[in-house]
Amino acid sequence: MYCPCNSQLPFSQCCELAHLNHAHVHLPSELMRSRFSAYAVKNYSFIHDTLIESKRNKNELSEIKSFADSVKFIALTIIDTHNEQKNDDKGYVTFQAWYQTPDNTFHWIKEKSEFVKQASLWYYVTGEVETNSMPIKLNRNDLCLCQSGKKYKKCCL
Ligand SMILES: [Zn+2]
Ligand SMILES: [Zn+2]
Repeated sequence: MYCPCNSQLPFSQCCELAHLNHAHVHLPSELMRSRFSAYAVKNYSFIHDTLIESKRNKNELSEIKSFADSVKFIALTIIDTHNEQKNDDKGYVTFQAWYQTPDNTFHWIKEKSEFVKQASLWYYVTGEVETNSMPIKLNRNDLCLCQSGKKYKKCCL
């Protein structure tokens, strides 16, 4: 299986490494990708554990679960990164993420996320939504929005 983060690498050589060991994340953009992939494969505990502790509320895990279960995350594009130096302890990643809802419409969200490093591990702090799409309806012969290169009818329909 290819990694859900659209790196074109196998999952086992990409975000799964981070899912198995948080210390495998060396850059904010890697945490961004691996958190997106965690939503896609429904690894709720990774999403929970990589959120900075001060931002977790007591129902965090069940809220993550109900959100991740209500949509299907299909594609990610990293648009911009800031402070991606080895010695930085704070960084920003702007990304666009595509998802599909049960009514079979597609949506995207563009967000700037903030990350901090604590005790040599990277954590997600917060995100600022820049833009949100309207629901997108695809025709059967349209190219699928998951970046597979296939027609919608042979892909995510
Ligand atoms: Zn990945
Ligand atoms: Zn697709």
